[in-house]
Amino acid sequence: MQYEGVLTKMETEYGKPIQYYLVFENSFLNVNQLLDKNIEISLEGFQCLNCGKKKKIYRQGFCYECFYSSAAVGDWIMKPELSTAHLGIEDRDLVYEQKVQLQPHIVYLALSSEIKVGVTRKTQVPTRWIDQGATQAIAIVEVPNRYLAGITEVALKDHYADKTNWRKMLTNDIEAVDLVAERIKLEHLIPTEVQEYFYSEKNDLYQLDYPVLQYPVKVKSLNLDKMPNFQGKLTGIKGQYLLFEDGTVFNVRGSEGYMVSIKV
Ligand SMILES: [Zn+2]
Repeated sequence: MQYEGVLTKMETEYGKPIQYYLVFENSFLNVNQLLDKNIEISLEGFQCLNCGKKKKIYRQGFCYECFYSSAAVGDWIMKPELSTAHLGIEDRDLVYEQKVQLQPHIVYLALSSEIKVGVTRKTQVPTRWIDQGATQAIAIVEVPNRYLAGITEVALKDHYADKTNWRKMLTNDIEAVDLVAERIKLEHLIPTEVQEYFYSEKNDLYQLDYPVLQYPVKVKSLNLDKMPNFQGKLTGIKGQYLLFEDGTVFNVRGSEGYMVSIKV
């Protein structure tokens, strides 16, 4: 079988284990079914996810021009504390920003190697945690807009990591911690204006179970720009990565906008 199309991040379905799908324009592929099989990935070109032009991808699936003009990749995405839609102040497109920022957001602790703090829209639970390859996650607060989530994250960043260590996540090198106990410990760090949104009693710890037959000991990242053709046996899927028997890992999300063919 051969599949061809523009890569976008894998769609996921929460389950035991999590189900992964590659969705192309005219077909889709349940990636779990490729476990223990040889597959071949070839780079065929590029297509910007925003303007659709066949231009080289700059970042996050966008060409250079779109990355610096689209409202979907403003600075407040990566730095939620810079959100200003709740004040009626525009960054790139106020209507878009109001739609995305003025909705319930969660600040959470996730465990992918060590404890990490992060922000997500409530609708992205548990998708966001699956995309990060977290094995456990718990919500700390639910707030009505992105700004309040952002200032909470900033207050917690002095105490927890805010980035995923992807090498440790992929080799399954995970600290033993109790996220429920950790949430109780951090209550006093929450900013005053967010205290009323703190989750204190909820028993809502998520356990996430990935389809991995065998974790690599050491990982090397596949870069299609440098190696436009790769073949290997798929041994696992975690986060947005495909794991291969020889230790090669492929970040599907990191290759958004790349046009590929996949032979199974
Ligand atoms: Zn573009």
